[in-house]
This record gives sequence, structure tokens and C-alpha cells, in this order.
Amino acid sequence: MTRNVIVLGGGYAGTMAANRILATGRDDVTVTVVNARPRFVERIRLHQVAAGTASGEQEFDDLLHPAARVRIATAQRIVGRVIEIEGGERLPFDILVLAVGSRGRPLVEGALDVSDHGEASRAREILAGLPAGEWVSVIGGGLTALETVTEIAETHPRLRVRLVADTPPVAGIPARTRRKMLRRLDRLDVEVVTGKATRTQHARLELADGAGFDSACTLWAAGAQAPDLARVSGFTVDRFGRMVTDDALVSVDRPDVVGVGDAALPPQAPRPSCQAALPMGAHGAETVLALLDGTAPTRFDLGFVAQCVSLGRHYGVVQPTHRDDTLRPTALRGRIGAVGKEQVVRMTLRWIRKQRSARDAYSWPHGGPDASEPTGTAVR
Ligand SMILES: Cc1cc2nc3c(=O)[nH]c(=O)nc-3n(C[C@H](O)[C@H](O)[C@H](O)COP(=O)(O)OP(=O)(O)OC[C@H]3O[C@@H](n4cnc5c(N)ncnc54)[C@H](O)[C@@H]3O)c2cc1C
Repeated sequence: MTRNVIVLGGGYAGTMAANRILATGRDDVTVTVVNARPRFVERIRLHQVAAGTASGEQEFDDLLHPAARVRIATAQRIVGRVIEIEGGERLPFDILVLAVGSRGRPLVEGALDVSDHGEASRAREILAGLPAGEWVSVIGGGLTALETVTEIAETHPRLRVRLVADTPPVAGIPARTRRKMLRRLDRLDVEVVTGKATRTQHARLELADGAGFDSACTLWAAGAQAPDLARVSGFTVDRFGRMVTDDALVSVDRPDVVGVGDAALPPQAPRPSCQAALPMGAHGAETVLALLDGTAPTRFDLGFVAQCVSLGRHYGVVQPTHRDDTLRPTALRGRIGAVGKEQVVRMTLRWIRKQRSARDAYSWPHGGPDASEPTGTAVR
């Protein structure tokens, strides 16, 4: 009997999961990737999409195993063993891999979300058309905001660029690296404003304390959350909408749904990141194979390696971490850091492609904390 696996969400975790299941060559399983967009989005390049230095898209044909079926559709709800998609169609499954990722939840009215390909592309168009001297604001104090503001400042030197954060930017980074990052902002003439942005209207950005600034384009690069899908489908979720799973990535609510990537919350609670999404996708595939065979799935274990950040195309930081994701004191900085970060970004696609060839073609570092240990110093 052929069993039907649906991978819902064709991002880093979903494509990795689909490729690993199909790499087994089993003829008793079909894998369909259901994705809202017709192309794979390289989310870790979306700050570049906004600045205009990358397209941030790849063809699924170039990434997925040839036996993978692809369906372009947006899921509205999961009811029993059926996914309801927009337009009323219903897609049945035997096992579901929930891999719908996350996206920004802009708390500032009128800001464009840099973590959405459509909105990042819209920002690119706006920035390209702005006259010299216009202000652009990026909201957020973490690594994504820093990457976005520096990429824009470097690519559009004729524009004036500001970072708005309600806490000191990248506060969790070791002092020496943080100083260098702030110096990079200074070199690129990025103005840093401390305050809580509330809304943007008529090319002005307003702060909670009543202050206001000119801002012809405002981008949101702060907190993200999972889509509402798991919650509206009745799954147990946390306050960010992530589906709660056991330590093997199986939903705590039902044994035929596996959660991977940003949309899932296992007890180990890895930092939502591409670095976690790829191993979760691969391990999620192993869990699916165990469920198909009626054997016990194993615990997901991920050891973190580094946090990588680009500050424009010519400066980057590769900050090694302990396996539990706490930061080590030393880092690769400068041009060599930029090269390191770019290599890591390219490797993500290479790993997904490589996973097509054999079940064990992709592996990842283990030795991460278990659920009882404290989590790392997440700053993205
Ligand atoms: C600008 C930026 C830079 C980043 N840089 C880094 C970095 O350097 N390192 C790092 O580790 N992490 C980085 N991240 C975080 C990283 O991008 C995410 O953690 C990662 O993309 C999560 O992968 P995922 O597969 O879980 O989800 P995603 O990559 O978000 O993929 C989810 C997929 O699900 C689809 N989908 C969603 N809802 C539905 C639905 N209802 N129906 C059908 N399909 C749906 C989406 O279209 C998407 O294709 C960055 C994020 C941003 C925004």
C-alpha cells in the first residue's frame, strides 16, 4: 500500500525533509511538497532582496528530489487527515510534515516586513526610486535588523538610513564584536535611534514618546511568529504559534503530524534559524520513516556551531558558539567574516541538493542541550 506524505511548506526544513524521505528510494511512499509560492525563497537573503543585491529565489526543480511532487497552494486548515486549501480543495495525507516556517509580525502600522519575499521586493522597488537624501528606517535591534540596515546603507549611499530599536542593538553579542558592529554602522553613516516605533504615515515614522522622523520607507526586521495554521487547526501552540512537539518532533496532539523548522517547538527549543531548520527537516524525515515502519522515532539532537552575520557585502562576523548556542568570546570579523557568511549561505542550498542523493548524505553536529538545560543566547 502506498502511503501519502505531505510536506506543508517548501522552505529550508520542508525541502530537506522531502529530499531525505525520497532519498531512501522507497516505492511505498509518495511525497508532495505543498507551498504557498511557486519558488523556493532563500529567506536568509531577504535583507539582500530589500536592498537589491539578490533575488532570493530558487526553482524547486533545482532543489527537490526528482520524485517529489509539488503543489502550489496555501493551506487554510488541517482537519483530520486532510489539508483544506484556499478555494475549498482538500488534500488527504497519511503523514503530515508541518514546515510552514515563520514571518515577521510587524507591530508598526505601515512598515514592510523584511522576512516576506513580496514585501522585501516592494521595499527594493521603493528604495530604487527614492531621490537622494530621503530617509529609510529599519526597525529592530537583532541580527536581522543589523543585516538589513547595513545592506541598504552600503547599496544605497545616496539615501539616509536609520536603525530604530527599543533596546540597545545586538546587546547579547560579546563586547568586542559588538563594538566592531556598531563601528560598522557608524562607518556606513547609519543613525541609531533608541525608541519604540508605533506607526508610519505620510512618510513619517512615529515613536511612542511622541517623537517623529521623516521616513520614505520603513522596514520591519524584528520579532517573527509562525503562521496561524497550527493554532486554527486545533494543535497545541506556544505564544508564537509554534506547534508543540515531543523530542522526536511528533506533535503532542497526534501521532501522524511531524513539525520541523521555525513552525515547530520541541522541548529542546532550538533557536529559530536556518541552522536549526535544516537538521530539523532531516531528523523530521527520519521520524516520518520510523512512523511509516511502525518503529519508535528517536530524539532530535542539534549542536549549534556559529552565528553568522553580514554587515553589507564587505564586512561580516562569524561568531562561534558552544553546542548549546551560547556564544564563544572570539569571532572572525571583517572581510573574512563576510566571505565566511556568504559560504554558509551558499552551503544551505548545497546541503538541500546533496540530500537528494542518499539518505545519509547530510549530517549535522549533535551534542546540543536537552530540554532540562538552559537555551542559548538567541539574538536573531
Ligand atoms: C533577513 C533574514 C536573514 C536571516 N538570516 C539567517 C542566518 O544568517 N542564519 C540563520 O540560521 N537564520 C537566518 N534567518 C532565519 C531563517 O531564515 C529561518 O529561521 C528559516 O528560514 C526557517 O526555515 P523554515 O523552513 O522553518 O521556514 P521558511 O524558510 O520560512 O519556509 C516556510 C515555507 O512555508 C511556506 N508556507 C507558509 N505558510 C504556508 C501555508 N499556509 N501553506 C503553504 N505554504 C506555506 C512558505 O511559503 C515558505 O516557503 C534569517 C531570516 C531573515 C528574515
